[in-house]
Amino acid sequence: MSERKALPRRQDDPPPRTGPRIDVKRVVGGQSTTICILSSRIQGFIVHWDVAAGRKGRSGPCLQDESACQGCKTGLAKKWLGYLCVISSMWGRCFIELTPEAARQITDQAGGNGDLRGVRGRLYRTSANNGRLRFEVSEFRESSEKLPKDEDVSPVLEWLWNWQRKAS
Ligand SMILES: [Zn+2]
Repeated sequence: MSERKALPRRQDDPPPRTGPRIDVKRVVGGQSTTICILSSRIQGFIVHWDVAAGRKGRSGPCLQDESACQGCKTGLAKKWLGYLCVISSMWGRCFIELTPEAARQITDQAGGNGDLRGVRGRLYRTSANNGRLRFEVSEFRESSEKLPKDEDVSPVLEWLWNWQRKAS
């Protein structure tokens, strides 16, 4: 018995992940990633941006019921953010956050019936920190059946926004 007590505790399986299964990624100034889009369409949200929160400001949801929305009540600025489930050369499968301009570039370049699934291209931001997020399509869909399935970003955002609130 006493010998056993001296043995290190072994567990081959890594501890379960906390947080969402798929991360939300933001391309920052100077970054560039090749993506293959898994979503058929962009998932968009109106969010509030609280400049004063945290070290770098923080986003949170704008609620459908304005009277219940903390951001609306305190007069925080609103903006639109789009999300796409993608496979990225840099991050693997993830959600990519899009500005309105980048979202418009993607939908304009995809053409056709507007289905984005299977579209490939480069998403990049110019090196200034406030540089614009841009998308350059490189290849249109081949057979999109073989691609991994699209995911809904809502549960992930919900988790992030709750977590961010708790962390403040
Ligand atoms: Zn609001």
